[in-house]
Amino acid sequence: MIDLHTHSTHSDGTLSPDKLIDYACNQGLSAIALTDHDCISGNPIAKKQAEKRGIRFFPGVELEIESVQGSFHLLGLNIHKNDAVLAARLEEVQKKRKTRNREIIKKMQDAGIDVSIEDIASLAGGEVISRLHFALYLINRKKARSVKDAFLRFLSPGGTFFIPKEAMTLSEAVQMIHAAGGKAVIAHPFSLKMNFKNLCNFISGCKESGLDGIEAYHSEYGFTLCSRLEQFAADNGLIVTAGSDFHGEGIKNRKLGKTAGQTPIDDRFLDGLLS
Ligand code: AMP
Ligand code: MN
Ligand code: MN
Ligand code: MN
Repeated sequence: MIDLHTHSTHSDGTLSPDKLIDYACNQGLSAIALTDHDCISGNPIAKKQAEKRGIRFFPGVELEIESVQGSFHLLGLNIHKNDAVLAARLEEVQKKRKTRNREIIKKMQDAGIDVSIEDIASLAGGEVISRLHFALYLINRKKARSVKDAFLRFLSPGGTFFIPKEAMTLSEAVQMIHAAGGKAVIAHPFSLKMNFKNLCNFISGCKESGLDGIEAYHSEYGFTLCSRLEQFAADNGLIVTAGSDFHGEGIKNRKLGKTAGQTPIDDRFLDGLLS
């Protein structure tokens, strides 16, 4: 059993990179990739712990990509070579994220909520403050009933406190991932909010920008639909990966090492990464 999509406290997960590795070992995984949002600082920590514990580790990242509809997330998997260009670009992304976070705080204050950036930062373990941390704050303050409710009413497009995030282009992201020796893989493809046929056409177009593959199996989708994506990938020379999108034990339906309908993730999904 393996997992190729996970988060640590360096973005919006609840386990530190080394604790994530310990947890993966305890769950019986043989390999894991860390894919924090717009952040690669957890990778060396996880790598060191993985060497100590004897589990195979793949450094990774999850990048926000410009998209006209839905949300487009790109996984950079096995970014094991020099990642200095990526690191520098991500520093820029972090700066923009900080500006966006201040704008969200302003909207909340304008709505009469007594909140500071420090309040939100105290809910985030690492350098990345994401909308998930705003959601947790709104729940603590009894303004929202759940993460889902917080996103629906306040933090998603159309929500009271929504501020869009600046994103990279696919070509730029792919180039940086390739320069770091990694594979560029579309995460949870249905977040692009396209029907199956349009999604397939879209993904074929992405191949021209250097896309390597798709995360056909994700916790949020049913197994049959995921199998169709896998078949599409096979027919079109794309690699296939599978992941849980684990953020810690708190989020239901996102169990480490499990995907699509709680199916254990087979080691065969490493093949594409190593090809
Ligand atoms: P950000 O990178 O600040 O835009 O925040 C994105 C993060 O918020 C995602 O990685 C998820 O962890 C979380 N998120 C986004 N949309 C939702 C949603 N509809 N329900 C629950 N969590 C969400
Ligand atoms: Mn997240
Ligand atoms: Mn994502
Ligand atoms: Mn993710």
